[in-house]
Amino acid sequence: MKYLYLEMRAEEPLAIRADHAANGAKTTKLLTGSAVLGSLAALHRQRYSEQRTDFTDLFLKDQVYFPQLLPASYSVSKRWLKPFLDKNRFFMPVLPVPRTAQSCKRFGGFYKLDQEGFNVPERHGVRDTLLDWAAFYLLQQKGSIPAEKCIVPLEGEKQRKKQCYYKGCEESLDHFTGYYRRHRGDSKLRTAMEVKSSLELHTGINREQGTVEDGILYSREVIARDSLFSGIIKVPDHLEGQLLQFHDERTYIGTGRTRGLGKVRIVVSRTDDSDYGLMYGEQEQALKSFKERLNKFDDTLRKVCNAYEAETRAAFYFALTLHAPAILFDDYLRYRGSIDAATLAELTGIEPKTFELLYQNAGVQRIAGWNELWGTPRQQDYAIETGSVFLFSSQQKLDDDDQLLQALYRLEEEGIGQRRAEGFGRVCVSDPFHLEREQM
Ligand SMILES: [Zn+2]
Repeated sequence: MKYLYLEMRAEEPLAIRADHAANGAKTTKLLTGSAVLGSLAALHRQRYSEQRTDFTDLFLKDQVYFPQLLPASYSVSKRWLKPFLDKNRFFMPVLPVPRTAQSCKRFGGFYKLDQEGFNVPERHGVRDTLLDWAAFYLLQQKGSIPAEKCIVPLEGEKQRKKQCYYKGCEESLDHFTGYYRRHRGDSKLRTAMEVKSSLELHTGINREQGTVEDGILYSREVIARDSLFSGIIKVPDHLEGQLLQFHDERTYIGTGRTRGLGKVRIVVSRTDDSDYGLMYGEQEQALKSFKERLNKFDDTLRKVCNAYEAETRAAFYFALTLHAPAILFDDYLRYRGSIDAATLAELTGIEPKTFELLYQNAGVQRIAGWNELWGTPRQQDYAIETGSVFLFSSQQKLDDDDQLLQALYRLEEEGIGQRRAEGFGRVCVSDPFHLEREQM
């Protein structure tokens, strides 16, 4: 499997419909995998119409995993970012913030440092609560611990953890959502990514006369011109070349193409190596850094839990964090709303009793029914939300016969559930985000 970087820049405003319901004119803040696949397929038909086998291989066989494209525009001026932007800024993946993240209610957001290292404009930092929850559940499991002591990992002594730590701010903490990107120069430094929307005004046209109809003026929310989106395409080695053909092309995405909307510039290029500790890189190197990442998570979890006198008896701890919505069915073809131990066993092919689900923070979202490739309606799906987190303990060590390591690596590389060619089911094992705390 090769990982290719895909970037789209809006040359005109974009309208990607979040919902095909009759009154649903709300625009999404990302480019759905289905829209991306449809748009690349249309471009391929137009430019390389004689390469029919390639078209089948790329778009019809579900062997290329196209991504959802996430907003990659910086939410602050580039001036203070400049020192970090100079080197390969394009290759850092944009990731969703896990549901366990929290930030200050008044000044929420990642630290923003200027060139001298001062935090401007004021943002009080983001913390992740997953390890606190781990300690809480492990203390509860012990049974003999009184309730007021179990709650300490979540609330801290005298409720300090419910408040913002930043320079005595003491405002309460709130959930924090969105997308972020790490900096290549300093992986601890993260920036929120955002997408700007604008309102377009349109006049209604009189069908008989072809002129402006009196009294019909409407507006529509669109993604602003110049917005940047990016994602990673996962492609079998032998098809890499066919996708690299799109190294600088223009095409259309979304709706409203006859109203001057939807033109994008596409760039597909090779990703760099795995030096930022994420999964993208050469196989052997990737497996090594994958293993390091999992062990670091396990180590840190034990340290944090032991500090609260919680016992870490399981052989190994890891978390699954969804980087895209995941559509999973149970045996009766009903939608799953979470990933429990039995589901994980099914996904990895490992004995169900090996795993125990310690904690989860998950939500369910509806996926609109529209097939962009065929331009036809499709059944709606329900998916486990992006950013959902599942914490597991395992009775098997990571390197017992390498079985667990290989199974988890495959899970991350291949994803889980349905419609993976449209960017669904991307999962990250032991996401480093859970170990990074700007707040205490
Ligand atoms: Zn604060």
